Amino acid sequence: MHVVLGGGIGGLSAAYYLLNSGLKNVTLIEASSRLGGWIKTTKTSKGYIFEHGPRTVRPRGLAGENTLQLIEELGLDNKVLPINFEHPAAKNRLIYVNKSLYALPSNITSFLTPQPPFSKPLISALFHDLKVPKKTAKDESMYDFVERRLGKEIAEYAVSPLVCGVCAGDAKEISKSRNPIKVKSELSKRSKKEKWNVWSLDGGLELLPETLKCNIEEKGADVLLNSPCKEILFKSGKAVVKLQDDSFVSDNVICSLPAAQLAPLISKQHPLLSEDLAAIPSVTVGVVNLQYKGRLLNQDAFGFLVPTSQKLPILGVIFDSCCFPKDDNTVLTVMMGGRWFEQLFGRNPSPDKLLSTAVQHVRTILHIASVPENHCVSILKDCIPQYVIGHHERIERIKAYIKRHNLPLSLIGASYDGISVNDVIFSARTAVNDIIQKSNLNDSVKK
Ligand SMILES: Cc1cc2nc3c(=O)[nH]c(=O)nc-3n(C[C@H](O)[C@H](O)[C@H](O)COP(=O)(O)OP(=O)(O)OC[C@H]3O[C@@H](n4cnc5c(N)ncnc54)[C@H](O)[C@@H]3O)c2cc1C
Repeated sequence: MHVVLGGGIGGLSAAYYLLNSGLKNVTLIEASSRLGGWIKTTKTSKGYIFEHGPRTVRPRGLAGENTLQLIEELGLDNKVLPINFEHPAAKNRLIYVNKSLYALPSNITSFLTPQPPFSKPLISALFHDLKVPKKTAKDESMYDFVERRLGKEIAEYAVSPLVCGVCAGDAKEISKSRNPIKVKSELSKRSKKEKWNVWSLDGGLELLPETLKCNIEEKGADVLLNSPCKEILFKSGKAVVKLQDDSFVSDNVICSLPAAQLAPLISKQHPLLSEDLAAIPSVTVGVVNLQYKGRLLNQDAFGFLVPTSQKLPILGVIFDSCCFPKDDNTVLTVMMGGRWFEQLFGRNPSPDKLLSTAVQHVRTILHIASVPENHCVSILKDCIPQYVIGHHERIERIKAYIKRHNLPLSLIGASYDGISVNDVIFSARTAVNDIIQKSNLNDSVKK
């Protein structure tokens, strides 16, 4: 038997890859009443799409190609909504500095001439980089790395908002090193030919976990909802997964829970491992989706990000209706808080507080004075793990511990080797490959 813990995109993909490898007897255990984890789409009564979590996926890179292969295998090719590099949402990415919106450089001219808020052409930063002596320190923050190599302005105005946009974190704490991943697909060939920048799905990204659910259930997986795992014990090379009133003995447990939520489940037998898992922090993000009547944006773009130096309560705003227009409307998503959520809004802010903050900033920055026709407020508690300095050493230590103790436990999901949807799906595929390889090896040793 194979147990998968967590029914977000990580757990669902793991169950899919287990069944695709020919393994049977797969049980997926989810604490909440729904599958999909942070991938959640609301369709308003008038058909507008509000994404509460991820909205676009990158086609490129090895993990990106792997996701496109999965989309193809699930028969979702005809639902893909690509945005190519010529689209304004791909070309125009803005930052808000000193009460004005500026385009981040996207072409050669903007690279060679000074573009506010940068005081010098960006090419001068590259010359500066050539003169900087190499540093041998193992890990440093993304901010420190860029500040040392390319200068303070680029760290402040380009990297800091980028880190906020990707993981709602502080560039001064986020580590720079990452691991590469490898695969290929037909849909990916199309994406290269058509020069896709990002893609989403018609009807919203939640279609992906919904389709995965149907697929794994058709192949015989048991999916248990409302079934939080309370403890995992390891005995005689097996994992015993305990629920409130039930338990499962599994050859291997694939765990897609956020690291800090797995920590207490194994602390009795493995306190040291638990300590390392508990030390991977995550941040809370407030997400406010807004829909206004009429086309109200002065500029078509993906949206804008706010560098931390601007000391505003919002991380940025995504122009959803520029990416995927529908009728004569403006749909925006305001992201708030992140690393600074509690500091800004307290422990349990009311949805009204977040809504009024979002509407007020949209009014000031984008000059949209009208009242939104539709809105939705979500507080996504501890939703984005932070790869702070020392993260990669911690992950190495965690993996070494599991190997040394020969634990039948595979860790997947956003807490470890990448936070994007692509990374999470690929972590599931890699974990299943490792399990299959290990069991083939054991079989050949027995023969
Ligand atoms: C606001 C936001 C915007 C994002 N935007 C993008 C984007 O545009 N593009 C992109 O590529 N990525 C984006 N991401 C990142 C991406 O969405 C996530 O990294 C990914 O969805 C995480 O999937 P997961 O399966 O690892 O974890 P989760 O989605 O957290 O799933 C874990 C599951 O485990 C369950 N669980 C927890 N405890 C237990 C327990 N004890 N027993 C059983 N089940 C349990 C949870 O209920 C949950 O369903 C975004 C994330 C957020 C939050």
